[in-house]
Amino acid sequence: MTELSALSAAPTGTRDGVLRFYFGPMDCGKSTLALQMNYNHRRQGRRGLVLTKHDRSGGPQVTSRIGLGSEAVEVEDDLDLVALVREHRPVDYVICDEACFYTVAQIEQLADLTDDFGVDVYAFGLASDFRSQMFPAARRLFELADEISRLQVEVLCWCGRPGRLNARVIGGTMVRTGEQVVIGDTGDAPIRYQVLCRRHYRAGDLGES
Ligand SMILES: [Zn+2]
Repeated sequence: MTELSALSAAPTGTRDGVLRFYFGPMDCGKSTLALQMNYNHRRQGRRGLVLTKHDRSGGPQVTSRIGLGSEAVEVEDDLDLVALVREHRPVDYVICDEACFYTVAQIEQLADLTDDFGVDVYAFGLASDFRSQMFPAARRLFELADEISRLQVEVLCWCGRPGRLNARVIGGTMVRTGEQVVIGDTGDAPIRYQVLCRRHYRAGDLGES
Protein backbone atom coordinates (compact mmCIF):
# COMPACT_ATOMS: atom_id res chain seq x y z
CA MET A 1 0.00 0.00 0.00
CA THR A 2 1.23 3.46 -0.86
CA GLU A 3 1.20 5.76 2.14
CA LEU A 4 0.55 9.39 1.46
CA SER A 5 1.18 12.16 3.93
CA ALA A 6 1.42 15.91 3.63
CA LEU A 7 5.17 15.55 3.30
CA SER A 8 5.33 12.75 0.79
CA ALA A 9 5.35 13.33 -2.91
CA ALA A 10 2.18 12.42 -4.72
CA PRO A 11 2.56 9.37 -6.94
CA THR A 12 3.43 10.25 -10.47
CA GLY A 13 2.51 8.64 -13.73
CA THR A 14 -0.49 6.40 -14.12
CA ARG A 15 -3.21 6.11 -11.53
CA ASP A 16 -2.92 3.33 -9.00
CA GLY A 17 -4.65 0.15 -10.00
CA VAL A 18 -6.58 -2.03 -7.62
CA LEU A 19 -5.98 -5.68 -6.74
CA ARG A 20 -9.16 -7.49 -5.76
CA PHE A 21 -9.61 -11.12 -4.76
CA TYR A 22 -13.00 -12.81 -4.93
CA PHE A 23 -13.07 -16.19 -3.28
CA GLY A 24 -15.58 -18.93 -2.61
CA PRO A 25 -16.06 -22.68 -2.86
CA MET A 26 -16.67 -24.51 -6.10
CA ASP A 27 -19.93 -23.80 -7.89
CA CYS A 28 -20.41 -20.42 -6.24
CA GLY A 29 -20.35 -18.59 -9.57
CA LYS A 30 -16.76 -17.33 -9.66
CA SER A 31 -16.25 -17.90 -13.38
CA THR A 32 -19.67 -16.48 -14.17
CA LEU A 33 -18.81 -13.30 -12.28
CA ALA A 34 -15.39 -13.15 -13.96
CA LEU A 35 -17.04 -13.28 -17.37
CA GLN A 36 -19.67 -10.72 -16.39
CA MET A 37 -16.96 -8.37 -15.13
CA ASN A 38 -15.03 -8.74 -18.38
CA TYR A 39 -18.18 -7.92 -20.32
CA ASN A 40 -18.93 -4.84 -18.21
CA HIS A 41 -15.43 -3.41 -18.52
CA ARG A 42 -15.19 -4.10 -22.22
CA ARG A 43 -18.50 -2.38 -22.82
CA GLN A 44 -17.04 0.75 -21.19
CA GLY A 45 -14.26 0.69 -23.76
CA ARG A 46 -11.62 -0.65 -21.40
CA ARG A 47 -9.01 -3.05 -22.72
CA GLY A 48 -8.42 -6.24 -20.81
CA LEU A 49 -6.90 -9.67 -20.70
CA VAL A 50 -8.57 -12.81 -19.38
CA LEU A 51 -6.34 -15.45 -17.78
CA THR A 52 -7.14 -18.88 -16.42
CA LYS A 53 -5.56 -22.14 -15.33
CA HIS A 54 -7.12 -25.60 -15.32
CA ASP A 55 -10.52 -24.37 -16.53
CA ARG A 56 -13.20 -27.06 -16.38
CA SER A 57 -13.22 -27.11 -20.19
CA GLY A 58 -9.59 -28.29 -20.25
CA GLY A 59 -8.70 -25.57 -22.79
CA PRO A 60 -7.42 -21.98 -22.75
CA GLN A 61 -10.78 -20.40 -22.00
CA VAL A 62 -12.97 -19.46 -19.10
CA THR A 63 -16.25 -21.33 -19.04
CA SER A 64 -19.01 -21.17 -16.48
CA ARG A 65 -21.42 -23.82 -15.36
CA ILE A 66 -24.30 -21.80 -16.75
CA GLY A 67 -22.90 -21.92 -20.25
CA LEU A 68 -20.99 -18.65 -20.73
CA GLY A 69 -17.47 -18.64 -22.11
CA SER A 70 -14.53 -16.52 -23.22
CA GLU A 71 -11.15 -17.14 -24.76
CA ALA A 72 -8.37 -16.83 -22.22
CA VAL A 73 -4.64 -17.11 -21.76
CA GLU A 74 -3.62 -20.34 -20.02
CA VAL A 75 -1.31 -19.46 -17.12
CA GLU A 76 1.57 -21.93 -17.19
CA ASP A 77 3.87 -21.95 -14.15
CA ASP A 78 6.69 -20.17 -16.00
CA LEU A 79 4.54 -17.45 -17.56
CA ASP A 80 5.65 -13.94 -16.52
CA LEU A 81 2.43 -11.97 -16.13
CA VAL A 82 4.16 -8.58 -16.26
CA ALA A 83 5.81 -9.53 -19.56
CA LEU A 84 2.48 -10.84 -20.85
CA VAL A 85 0.72 -7.56 -20.15
CA ARG A 86 3.62 -5.61 -21.67
CA GLU A 87 3.21 -7.60 -24.88
CA HIS A 88 -0.49 -6.79 -25.01
CA ARG A 89 -0.34 -3.13 -24.00
CA PRO A 90 -2.39 -1.08 -23.61
CA VAL A 91 -4.10 -3.13 -20.90
CA ASP A 92 -6.46 -1.48 -18.41
CA TYR A 93 -7.51 -4.54 -16.46
CA VAL A 94 -6.75 -8.24 -16.05
CA ILE A 95 -9.27 -10.89 -15.07
CA CYS A 96 -7.60 -13.87 -13.38
CA ASP A 97 -9.82 -16.90 -13.08
CA GLU A 98 -8.68 -19.91 -11.04
CA ALA A 99 -6.00 -17.71 -9.45
CA CYS A 100 -5.61 -20.20 -6.59
CA PHE A 101 -3.63 -22.40 -9.00
CA TYR A 102 -1.13 -19.70 -10.02
CA THR A 103 2.34 -19.62 -8.49
CA VAL A 104 3.10 -17.27 -5.60
CA ALA A 105 5.55 -15.47 -7.90
CA GLN A 106 2.70 -14.81 -10.30
CA ILE A 107 0.61 -13.28 -7.51
CA GLU A 108 3.54 -10.94 -6.82
CA GLN A 109 3.52 -10.06 -10.51
CA LEU A 110 -0.17 -9.17 -10.25
CA ALA A 111 0.70 -6.73 -7.46
CA ASP A 112 3.45 -5.30 -9.67
CA LEU A 113 0.91 -4.75 -12.43
CA THR A 114 -1.31 -2.87 -10.02
CA ASP A 115 1.41 -0.72 -8.45
CA ASP A 116 3.77 -0.13 -11.37
CA PHE A 117 1.44 -0.12 -14.35
CA GLY A 118 -1.90 1.05 -12.91
CA VAL A 119 -3.63 -2.12 -14.08
CA ASP A 120 -6.80 -3.19 -12.26
CA VAL A 121 -6.53 -6.87 -11.35
CA TYR A 122 -9.61 -8.95 -10.53
CA ALA A 123 -8.63 -12.38 -9.25
CA PHE A 124 -11.09 -15.20 -8.66
CA GLY A 125 -10.46 -18.53 -7.02
CA LEU A 126 -10.84 -21.03 -4.26
CA ALA A 127 -9.37 -20.09 -0.90
CA SER A 128 -8.73 -23.57 0.44
CA ASP A 129 -8.02 -27.02 -0.94
CA PHE A 130 -9.70 -30.35 -0.17
CA ARG A 131 -7.79 -30.54 3.13
CA SER A 132 -9.37 -27.16 4.06
CA GLN A 133 -5.92 -25.57 3.90
CA MET A 134 -5.20 -22.47 1.92
CA PHE A 135 -3.64 -22.60 -1.51
CA PRO A 136 -0.29 -20.72 -1.45
CA ALA A 137 -1.48 -18.34 -4.18
CA ALA A 138 -4.73 -17.66 -2.32
CA ARG A 139 -2.82 -16.95 0.87
CA ARG A 140 -0.63 -14.45 -0.95
CA LEU A 141 -3.71 -12.78 -2.39
CA PHE A 142 -5.19 -12.44 1.10
CA GLU A 143 -1.93 -10.80 2.16
CA LEU A 144 -1.58 -8.43 -0.79
CA ALA A 145 -5.01 -7.57 -2.14
CA ASP A 146 -6.57 -4.16 -1.66
CA GLU A 147 -10.03 -5.71 -1.39
CA ILE A 148 -11.19 -9.23 -0.59
CA SER A 149 -14.72 -10.49 -1.11
CA ARG A 150 -16.34 -13.76 -0.21
CA LEU A 151 -18.73 -14.44 -3.04
CA GLN A 152 -22.29 -14.39 -1.87
CA VAL A 153 -23.82 -16.58 -4.56
CA GLU A 154 -25.09 -19.24 -2.23
CA VAL A 155 -23.87 -22.77 -2.72
CA LEU A 156 -25.37 -25.15 -0.24
CA CYS A 157 -24.25 -28.29 1.48
CA TRP A 158 -26.62 -31.25 1.12
CA CYS A 159 -28.01 -30.32 4.56
CA GLY A 160 -28.95 -26.81 3.44
CA ARG A 161 -26.26 -24.95 5.35
CA PRO A 162 -23.91 -22.61 3.43
CA GLY A 163 -21.22 -24.54 1.58
CA ARG A 164 -17.79 -23.45 2.75
CA LEU A 165 -15.26 -26.19 1.99
CA ASN A 166 -14.36 -28.42 -0.92
CA ALA A 167 -14.22 -32.15 -0.24
CA ARG A 168 -12.33 -34.50 -2.54
CA VAL A 169 -14.23 -37.74 -3.13
CA ILE A 170 -12.63 -40.87 -4.57
CA GLY A 171 -14.81 -43.90 -5.15
CA GLY A 172 -17.54 -42.46 -2.96
CA THR A 173 -15.23 -41.79 -0.01
CA MET A 174 -13.98 -38.42 1.20
CA VAL A 175 -10.18 -38.25 1.36
CA ARG A 176 -8.00 -35.83 3.34
CA THR A 177 -4.55 -36.56 2.00
CA GLY A 178 -3.00 -36.39 -1.45
CA GLU A 179 -1.67 -33.93 -4.00
CA GLN A 180 -2.96 -30.40 -3.51
CA VAL A 181 -4.10 -30.00 -7.11
CA VAL A 182 -5.83 -32.88 -8.89
CA ILE A 183 -8.31 -31.86 -11.52
CA GLY A 184 -11.52 -33.83 -11.30
CA ASP A 185 -15.06 -33.47 -12.57
CA THR A 186 -13.80 -33.93 -16.13
CA GLY A 187 -15.15 -36.82 -18.15
CA ASP A 188 -15.04 -40.06 -16.21
CA ALA A 189 -12.20 -39.08 -13.85
CA PRO A 190 -12.47 -41.16 -10.66
CA ILE A 191 -12.05 -38.02 -8.54
CA ARG A 192 -14.84 -35.61 -7.87
CA TYR A 193 -15.32 -32.69 -5.52
CA GLN A 194 -18.27 -31.85 -3.32
CA VAL A 195 -18.98 -28.65 -1.45
CA LEU A 196 -19.89 -29.19 2.20
CA CYS A 197 -20.68 -27.02 5.20
CA ARG A 198 -17.99 -26.89 7.86
CA ARG A 199 -19.84 -29.34 10.12
CA HIS A 200 -20.17 -32.02 7.46
CA TYR A 201 -16.72 -31.37 6.04
CA ARG A 202 -15.19 -31.98 9.45
CA ALA A 203 -17.39 -35.03 10.02
CA GLY A 204 -16.65 -36.36 6.54
CA ASP A 205 -20.38 -36.79 5.92
CA LEU A 206 -21.27 -36.67 2.21
CA GLY A 207 -24.99 -37.13 2.78
CA GLU A 208 -27.04 -39.49 0.65
CA SER A 209 -25.49 -38.52 -2.68
ZN1 LIG B 1 -23.90 -29.84 5.83
